[in-house]
Amino acid sequence: KNSIVPKSFLLLLLTSLVLSQAQPQPWSPLQAPKELAKKLNHGPNALLLASTDFGHTVHKIPLAVLNPTSINDISELIKFSKSLPNPFTIAARGNGHSLHGQAMAYNGIVINMTELNSHRNGSGIVVSWKAPLGYYADVGGEQIWIDVLHATLERGLTPLSWTNYLYLTIGGTLSNAGISGHSFRFGPQISNVHELDVVTGNGDMITCSAKNNSELFFAVLGGLGQFGIITRARIPLVPAPTRASANFFDFREKIYFVKWLRMLYSDFLTFSKDQENLISFNESKQKSVPDYMGGSLLLNHPPLDLSFYPVSDQPKITSLVTRFGIIYVLELVKYYDNESRKIVDKEIQEIIRGLNFLPTFIYEKDASYEQFLNRVHTEELALRSQGLWDRPHPWLDLFVPKSRISDFNEGVFKGILLKQNLTAGFSQVYPTNRSKWDGRMSAITPDEDVFYLVSLLYTSGFDQLKAYQNQNQQILQFCKDAGIQIKQYLSREETLEQWVEHFGPKWKVFEERKAAFDPKHILSPGQRIFIKQ
Ligand code: FAD
Repeated sequence: KNSIVPKSFLLLLLTSLVLSQAQPQPWSPLQAPKELAKKLNHGPNALLLASTDFGHTVHKIPLAVLNPTSINDISELIKFSKSLPNPFTIAARGNGHSLHGQAMAYNGIVINMTELNSHRNGSGIVVSWKAPLGYYADVGGEQIWIDVLHATLERGLTPLSWTNYLYLTIGGTLSNAGISGHSFRFGPQISNVHELDVVTGNGDMITCSAKNNSELFFAVLGGLGQFGIITRARIPLVPAPTRASANFFDFREKIYFVKWLRMLYSDFLTFSKDQENLISFNESKQKSVPDYMGGSLLLNHPPLDLSFYPVSDQPKITSLVTRFGIIYVLELVKYYDNESRKIVDKEIQEIIRGLNFLPTFIYEKDASYEQFLNRVHTEELALRSQGLWDRPHPWLDLFVPKSRISDFNEGVFKGILLKQNLTAGFSQVYPTNRSKWDGRMSAITPDEDVFYLVSLLYTSGFDQLKAYQNQNQQILQFCKDAGIQIKQYLSREETLEQWVEHFGPKWKVFEERKAAFDPKHILSPGQRIFIKQ
């Protein structure tokens, strides 16, 4: 039950998918220009990879996979498709960590973006400085964030905004939003971009920013891959929290530190009020602001992951969870460097003063900056070793308006989740500030100044998948019935009406941008917005 999916099973799956989805092909890859045709891979392994993703719930087979050796290849492919009477669809595949087939292209071409890295000759991540921008990194859309972390730390620099997991591509997260406990303060990743290079659905290669070609720039940020393929992003950098090494001139020997705290609550109102207070700050007036603020649930559905806490305290935390059913965990991180090392404890005291967590249930760790940022990878390695990583992930990510989060807690956390006997997975809940998002971007948030991110991150057995999917449906139905105006994040709506509702007043602009930048509806069919596949 716990073993990873055997390859023979996947090949069988591919064969049955080919048979079940077989339809007359609208075009033949043999028609492709010669140079391009050479880079199209039709082999079963390539097709298999391109027809699956981290979610393991949707499988769509492309006709071929393009391994581009240059950005020009991407432009040529799009132009070739556009020249046909019935253009084929094209999906950029970053690291394939979508959940619902968003990077797939049924009967079309999937572009294996990470292949570009082999042809960059080391120019995939370039750190520079220029006035008035200061330090920034020019990063290929196919690069993954962990490599950006390493390359920038070598120069003593870092981006400000991260996702919880760093093995995602720049293009993949900027197409959604890129959010985490950093977003309340530094904005989502889409708010941390100076400039983009994009190949549009017309095949044009365009550089855009908030000042130049701004319509394309804002369309692409959070645009679900609908308008163009990101081939470069210019990302602002700041000095990383450094601690001097023995060799002052070698940044690689420096260590970057954080204080990492978790506090436990039994009462949701107290927990959420404390979270909301922590994210309402005035950067110029208040010195001690956390650099990261998150939240999660400990649900009384074993197994509980208590690895953060001292072994001696784990029994009393377990009995707390048994007693209350749910324990809410507030998580804080404060970076420190050589300068602030002496005062970081004082700053932490200032931040937590007035918080109403359960007395004595506060835990603190020192970690390196990278250990903290790359924390999910540690869990990934553990799950992989148990064969629990390559399994279905029926995740549900929602933005919930602050005004209804308490109703959500009653109906979903204490209601649906506690009552059903599905293992808990990992559930996050924390608020963020909408002022850090730019309304001109395609990304959608609820219509309130503060909204919560709720992520229900399950790993399911193939046999339990339906039960989790039903539970997700129940949650969505509950929100609908209770009039809670949630927005789904990373979702794939099933009908056009649902997408129109999702985008609300922004739908018209979204549609107009599609008509301008991808008039033949070539790009990102897996999102199922303009094409049903
Ligand atoms: P893919 O799955 O390859 O592609 C996703 C979409 O983006 C597709 O529509 C694709 O066509 C498009 N796309 C890919 N590359 C490009 C490009 N260069 N230009 C234009 N479009 C492109 N998200 C968060 O916001 N915060 C988190 O903390 C977070 N944690 C995660 C943890 C895990 C373990 C996983 C699996 C996902 C997490 N995500 C998180 C979600 C993740 O950000 C998205 O699923 C993201 O799209 C994955 O990146 P990818 O490179 O794998 O994209």
